[in-house]
Amino acid sequence: MASRFRTDVWIDWCPGCGDFGIVAAMHKAFAELNLEPERLAVVSGIGCSGKTPHFINANGVHTLHGRGIAFATGIKLANPELTVVVNGGDGDLLGIGMAHFVALGRRNLDIAVILHNNQVYGLTKGQASPTLKKGDKPKSLPVPNAQDPVNPIAIAVSAGFTFVARGYSSWVDHLKELIKAAINHRGAALVEVLQPCVTYNDLYTVDYYKDKLYKLEEEPGWDPVVRSPEETEEKMSRAIAKSREWGERIPVGVFYVNPYVEPYEDRIAKRNPTFSSVPPARQIIARNGGEPLLGREEFRKLFSDYIIKVKK
Ligand code: SF4
Ligand code: MG
Repeated sequence: MASRFRTDVWIDWCPGCGDFGIVAAMHKAFAELNLEPERLAVVSGIGCSGKTPHFINANGVHTLHGRGIAFATGIKLANPELTVVVNGGDGDLLGIGMAHFVALGRRNLDIAVILHNNQVYGLTKGQASPTLKKGDKPKSLPVPNAQDPVNPIAIAVSAGFTFVARGYSSWVDHLKELIKAAINHRGAALVEVLQPCVTYNDLYTVDYYKDKLYKLEEEPGWDPVVRSPEETEEKMSRAIAKSREWGERIPVGVFYVNPYVEPYEDRIAKRNPTFSSVPPARQIIARNGGEPLLGREEFRKLFSDYIIKVKK
C-alpha cells in the first residue's frame, strides 16, 4: 500500500505544483517494489524538491545545496544493502551540484536520481535555472534569459549514467513505472521529471505540455537498451539525439539502458574483498556495552600522521 510510505508532515508546496505528482509516484513505486522503509534512504539537497524526504516514511536526509548525490554516495558505500534515492531540482543538481552529478555517472554507483525539472529556482522566487532556454522569459524574470540551457538527458548519458529516462509529473502511473525501473537497475539511474512550477513559470505549464508529450515506448522501433557492448556508442548517440527533440513533440520514457558497465560497488569489492560481506555499516565500532573500540590514545596514534604540528 502506497500509504505505508506517507507521513503526517504537512506538505507546503504550492497547490497545483508538479511535485505532488512526483511524491505520489514515489509512494506507489516503493510500495509496488515491496521496499522496507528501514532499508530505503531518500536524500535531497536544497529547493522545493529538497522537502521530499519529509513526505516519505523511510530514512531521509535533507542535505546541503547541490550535495544530495555526495551524501547518497557516502550512504551507499557505507551500506550497499540500502536502496538509495536522490531528489533534487534542476538548479540543485545541474547548477551547484553538477560536479557530483557527473561524478555519479563516472562511477555508475547504484543510486536512483529523480530530477525535478521546472526550469526555475522555485524556492527562491523563480530565477532562471540551468535548464531554462535562452530567450525564455517566465513571469518571474524581468528580462529574457541570456544563457543557453543544459540538457539533463544528454549530460547523464555522456557522463556514464547507465539508466536514463524522463517522466512527467501529471502522468503519475507512467512516472511510477520509470522510478521502479530506475531502482531495479543496478547502476547510476536518472529519471528527469518535467514538473510545472505553477507559481513562477508560466511558460512550461500543464497546458504547454498537454498536446506535445508522447511516450517513447509507443514509438515504432524505439529500443533504448544496449544489447551488446559494441552497441554502446550507437545507443548513446540515439539517446542524445532523441533528447534534443523539443517542439511540437516532446518525448518521455526510457532513453538509454546499459547493463554492461560494472557498478562502482563491484569495483570496490574487487579491491577490498570484505566490502560486500562486512561493509562499513556492519563493522564493529564499540565493544559490548558501548565502549568505543579504540581508546583516546589509540585514536591519537591512528590519526598522528594527519595531525599538523605548528612550530612555535
Ligand atoms: Fe512548486 Fe514552484 Fe511552488 Fe516550488 S514555487 S512549490 S516548484 S509551484
Ligand atoms: Mg527548479
